[in-house]
Amino acid sequence: MYSEDNLLPLSALQHLFFCKRQCALIHVEQLWTENLFTAEGRIMHDKVHEENKAYKGSVRVEYGMSLRSLRLGLVGKADVVEFHRVDESSAVKWRPFPVEYKRGKPKGDDCDKVQLCAQALCLEEMLNISVPRGALFYGKTRRRQDVTLDDRLRSKTKAAAERLHKLIDSGRTPMPVWGPKCKHCSLQQLCMPEVVARERSVNRYLLQVMRKP
Ligand code: SF4
Repeated sequence: MYSEDNLLPLSALQHLFFCKRQCALIHVEQLWTENLFTAEGRIMHDKVHEENKAYKGSVRVEYGMSLRSLRLGLVGKADVVEFHRVDESSAVKWRPFPVEYKRGKPKGDDCDKVQLCAQALCLEEMLNISVPRGALFYGKTRRRQDVTLDDRLRSKTKAAAERLHKLIDSGRTPMPVWGPKCKHCSLQQLCMPEVVARERSVNRYLLQVMRKP
């Protein structure tokens, strides 16, 4: 269990999946710059959070709901939490169903699903109720994708939260690893992955030369 003073932003899980160095630059060194992708994402989230509580048939909708988990050591906000009415005979009257908004389209990895699952784990801890499913809404495709929050995804989410705490607690920023992702990174100018990679290869070369008999 983490203490209240030791909680990290839930959104940092996305940064961790995208790039460990980016995650440390933002959450250890407190650096941030915006590019087109982050600006579009921010505007989309702000719009959703400005909405008011609503009822849609048998679904109650909460926007920008605060979340916290002492087990994961995370704090944040859910874009949307729908509360689905459960049948009358059940002891549970409303079951939470988190919906996370993303500006782009579905990705090949689990990073969006992990963020959604972390929200569900927060809701389970806060409300003492199981949250078996949620959804991701993608702005580019305008489609909603239902996600089953199974054991595999839950384990992956818990492991990611642990890795995040280890990285931030270490206080160290990993070296850059230049890759296609860097083109989409808002911190590229501050990170300078190509320069650092070039310097490292020069240093490696000089060390090899010096070691030669
Ligand atoms: S520029 Fe590349 S290596 Fe640097 S933080 Fe961004 S994604 Fe990571």
